[in-house]
Amino acid sequence: MPDPHVAASGSLNDQLFASAQRVIPGGVNSPVRAFRAVGGTPRFIARAEGAWLIDVEGKRYVDYIGSWGPMILGHGHPAVLEAVREALGDGLSFGAPTARETELVEAVLAQVPSIDQLRLVSSGTEAAMSAIRLARGATGRNGIVKFEGCYHGHADALLVKAGSGLATFGNPTSAGVPAETVQHTLVLEYNNVEQLEEAFALHGDAIAGVMVEPIAGNMNFVRASLPFMKRLRELCNTHGALLIFDEVMTGFRVALGGAQSVYEKAVPGFVPDISVFGKVIGGGMPLAAFGARRGIMERLAPLGPVYQAGTLSGNPIATACGLATLREIARPGFFDSLAARTRQLVDGLRAAAQDAGVALSGDSEGGLFGFFLTSELPQNYGQVIATDAARFNRFFHAMLERGVYLAPALYEAGFVSAAHGDAEIEATLAAARESFALLG
Ligand code: PLP
Repeated sequence: MPDPHVAASGSLNDQLFASAQRVIPGGVNSPVRAFRAVGGTPRFIARAEGAWLIDVEGKRYVDYIGSWGPMILGHGHPAVLEAVREALGDGLSFGAPTARETELVEAVLAQVPSIDQLRLVSSGTEAAMSAIRLARGATGRNGIVKFEGCYHGHADALLVKAGSGLATFGNPTSAGVPAETVQHTLVLEYNNVEQLEEAFALHGDAIAGVMVEPIAGNMNFVRASLPFMKRLRELCNTHGALLIFDEVMTGFRVALGGAQSVYEKAVPGFVPDISVFGKVIGGGMPLAAFGARRGIMERLAPLGPVYQAGTLSGNPIATACGLATLREIARPGFFDSLAARTRQLVDGLRAAAQDAGVALSGDSEGGLFGFFLTSELPQNYGQVIATDAARFNRFFHAMLERGVYLAPALYEAGFVSAAHGDAEIEATLAAARESFALLG
C-alpha cells in the first residue's frame, strides 16, 4: 500500500519508493536493487509467474534476474509450491534435526562427487565465510587468495580490493572493515597465470585456500580459462592450499553438477577441495551450503575445532523448497533444454546487434549468460570496467521500457529459467532490435 503521507502525485511505484527510502536505507534491502548503477527508479514487484515479473502498476516484464539466480524453474512452479505448502503444515522451524535435511544433502551429493559431506546454512555469504574458516582451520594457515571481480558475499575478510602489489595483501573495500581483517587476503587478477605463480612463489606456505568463482557471474560473465584453472589446481596441490569453488551462482545453474562438472569434462579428475552453494539449492528460500571431503568436513563442530552454527540452518520450509527444486532439475534433459534456450537468447542478441551495427559479445553455460557491448569478451575485471557503462545503461532502460528486465548493472550475469519459452525469447529479441537501433 502507498504511504498515506506521500503526496498523491507521482506514480504508485514512485510513491512506494519514496516511502521505502524514508525507512530503509536507499529504499532497498540489498544495494544492487536500487538501480544506482543504471539510474532511475527500481520497479516494485507485486507478483511473478513463470518467466514474468508483474510490477505494482500491472506492467509485465520478461525476468532475466530470477531473484538473482535461484528461480531456475521460473516463478510459482507447481511442484515447488506444493512441497512448500506441505512443509508449512508441519511447522516453520524446530531447531532440531529433520529427515528432509539429510534428503537434501543426499540429493546434492548424488550430483557433486567432489564432496562427501555438506553443511546447510542460510545465505551464500554465510557459506563462503564458513568455508574460509574451515580452510584456515584445516590447514592451520591464515592466507586467503581471491580474484578481482569475484564476489563471495559480504563477510569482512572477503570485502577486499587488490593491494598495491603482489607483496602486499589487500585493502578493505567497505567502511567498517578493519585493515587487520583483510591483511591475510591476497587479491589477484582473474585469468592471470603469471601473477598466480608469482603469488604462490612468494606466499605459498601461508595460503590456506584460494576462493574462486569458476565462471565469474559478478563481473557480468567471465569464464576462468582452462590453463588458469589447471595451474591453480596444480599450485594448490604443490603448496598444500585448498581450492575453494564458490558455486553460489554456478551450482545447479550452469550444469547439474555445477561449474566443477564443466571443468571435470575438460580435465578428467579435476575437483575443488571445498564447494560453496547458494541460490538454486534453496529454490527461492534462504538456504545455502558448503561441502568437502569427509576429512575436511569433520574438522567442523561438533566433531572438530572449527566452530560454525545457525538458528535457522536447514530450515524445514527452505529444505522442502530446495529439495523440490533439485528434483525437478535432475529430470533427464532438463539442462540440455535450458542450455539450448539460453544459447538461443545469446545468439539472438548477437544477431540483432549485428543487424543494427552494434558490437556485442556474449557467452553462456547452462542457464547463466552474459553479454558485453564490445566485440571481444573481457577476460578479467579490468577489461570489464573498461567497457562503456553509459551505453549499457541506455540499453538497459530501453529494454525495461519494452518489458524486459535485465540485471540493473553491467557487472551482473543474466539468468534464464525453464519457464522461458519461444514466446519470451522472441519478445526479448523484438525489444532488443528496437533498443539496439536506439543505441546507434
Ligand atoms: N557468492 C557468489 C558467487 C554470489 O554471487 C553471491 C551473491 O550473489 C554470494 C556468494 C553471496 O550470497 P548471498 O547473497 O546469499 O549472501
